Amino acid sequence: MSFSESLQNLKQHGLFRELKPIQSRHHARTIINGQSYLDLASNDYLGLSRHPELMEGVKQALDDWGFGATGSRLLGGDYDVTHQLQQKMAAFVGTSHCLVFNSGYQANVGLITSIAGPGDIIFADKYVHASLLDGIRLSGASWKRFRHHDMDHLRQLLTRYRSGKKKAYILTESLFSMHADTPPLDQLVDIKRSFDAELIVDEAHAMGVLGPDGRGLSVGHDVDWVVGTFGKAWGSSGAFVACSEAGYHWLINSARSFIYSTALPPMIMAWNEAVLDRMSDWAALRSQLAENVRQVRDQFSAAGLDVWGDHHIGFLPCESVDHCCAVADQMQAKGYWMVPIRQPTVPAGQEGLRWSIHAHHRADELEEWIDDLRTVYQSTSR
Ligand code: PMP
Repeated sequence: MSFSESLQNLKQHGLFRELKPIQSRHHARTIINGQSYLDLASNDYLGLSRHPELMEGVKQALDDWGFGATGSRLLGGDYDVTHQLQQKMAAFVGTSHCLVFNSGYQANVGLITSIAGPGDIIFADKYVHASLLDGIRLSGASWKRFRHHDMDHLRQLLTRYRSGKKKAYILTESLFSMHADTPPLDQLVDIKRSFDAELIVDEAHAMGVLGPDGRGLSVGHDVDWVVGTFGKAWGSSGAFVACSEAGYHWLINSARSFIYSTALPPMIMAWNEAVLDRMSDWAALRSQLAENVRQVRDQFSAAGLDVWGDHHIGFLPCESVDHCCAVADQMQAKGYWMVPIRQPTVPAGQEGLRWSIHAHHRADELEEWIDDLRTVYQSTSR
């Protein structure tokens, strides 16, 4: 099939995607094509991406280092500020070391391909992020998926497939990006110990927001590899893997997505460090976000809509791709930036609308949004 036939096919099945450039963003509003929308799609959970003091602060970094990193980290693109960030991040998460990557995608692919290979086995929650799946596929290790949060299923798979393999890894997320739920970390730690496996937890959506002082949900648990990103609560870019000292050196020497890519601009590292330095200043934003989440949850249950998610991410399953696209179109027409979530992001039959709640959403905006969503959802249902 040619590209144009394949694209036509996507269009016919409601699976075609297009880019929609943003002209400007202010707090919880996004301007696209001259239209102002309430932003319910971005991951700027604390609204830090336009924080005036942070924006002012990175100007010094720009003066000191200029803009581009000018090389990969091993070849002239490594800066003091990145090492400061790494040390502080390790202390924040509670590991001895931490390595900064250019993105969460690169961190996950680099991590898994470095530590797992032929002869090893990976047990991944059924709904882990695409970046973890791509890492698994590229690693050449055997792999099995366990039913979402199903510890009995995980034990069964380990009992059946662990022996005869050199290393075993268990993969999960601390707050799932679509299902918006959290795994039983205590049980995962018990299981990994019983089966001599290592545990990898992707904290992309929790880091900076959940856990004590925003330290994530795996803090205090015996997790071997913690992945976090700066593209979400930090309002920035980049990611990290927090791990042991040996793990840190091994990744520097083997993670190809780390080795063979130009480092992020040092001013981004300065921003990431400034956000971390001021983590206690964001306590009020975290409380406001938790308050917004409470309001949204209460209002959804009063509206009788069966939505997933106890935290700042929510998901409303739809009846079909068409239903999902119709809800998203009508919500956009009413001024809400919501996008349909379809294959391959979720399996076929699990289409829906995902949103993220921000600290900067106002109570009245959220109330109106849920009223409108209920009306649109019901009027488009069969
Ligand atoms: N892990 C998870 C769970 C994610 O949701 C994402 C991004 N949506 C990533 C990793 C990738 O992070 P990044 O956007 O920094 O590449």
